[in-house]
Amino acid sequence: MIKFENVSKRYQDGTIAVDSLNLEIKKGEFFVLIGPSGCGKTTTLKMINRLIPLSDGTIFFDEQKISEYDIHELRWNIGYVLQQIALFPHMTIEENITVVPEMKKWSKEKMKERAYELMDMVGLDSKMYAKRKPKELSGGEQQRVGVIRALAADPEIILMDEPFSALDPISRESLQDDMLDLKKNLKKTTVFVTHDMQEALKLADRICIMEKGKIVQIGTPRELVMNP
Ligand code: ADP
Ligand code: ADP
Repeated sequence: MIKFENVSKRYQDGTIAVDSLNLEIKKGEFFVLIGPSGCGKTTTLKMINRLIPLSDGTIFFDEQKISEYDIHELRWNIGYVLQQIALFPHMTIEENITVVPEMKKWSKEKMKERAYELMDMVGLDSKMYAKRKPKELSGGEQQRVGVIRALAADPEIILMDEPFSALDPISRESLQDDMLDLKKNLKKTTVFVTHDMQEALKLADRICIMEKGKIVQIGTPRELVMNP
């Protein structure tokens, strides 16, 4: 589904953030990138949706090079969730969730149905929350909206960069549980960045441990626990 072939990233100042990475992420897989700060996780993630250009190598999405995709088509097909929620403050929750469906010109009924379904899926009572503004929601609730917004237009891939790390421990755990439910229901190819091994073990189908821009270990949670 997503394949890295000898991918490297060298920044302007000479920093080699990612060093000859070879990696295959399967369709429907929940793939977790973990490692110490500065090991290249975010750079790896952002190269997938072309937020950061590669210095060397190729990334494929199915059989096609991502460099050959129309950039809008690529971004629409890839949901992206960041650590810092960035909901549009002047828009309601429902409007925030349907930003991408709207760009894709979905019908009003279809957008509403999708938004309400997703809100209910993560425990936000749609009747109560649809017409609220982001500032009327707690941090954890806003982050839930950030997650379902990324899923709204049914992208093939979802990228998540430490999506829960700014939350208090209770909200974090509750969002991890929602993520497990979403994972079961939606079976999206997901690349999830974290520095929290407990979180990785809880969520991942496979975990990839990075250090200094390279993969040092890769396997299922079971394999990593048995063979640390
Ligand atoms: P992680 O997500 O694992 O913390 P990053 O991918 O953010 O790691 O960073 C990998 C390395 O690249 C680090 O050494 C970081 O300082 C460096 N880096 C990240 N972004 C830039 C940039 N825009 N310019 C120069 N160096 C960068
Ligand atoms: P780009 O060149 O891709 O437009 P920037 O160079 O502005 O992006 O940086 C991308 C992100 O990485 C920004 O969030 C920036 O704060 C961060 N960044 C920049 N330099 C470094 C660095 N040396 N280490 C870690 N992060 C960095």
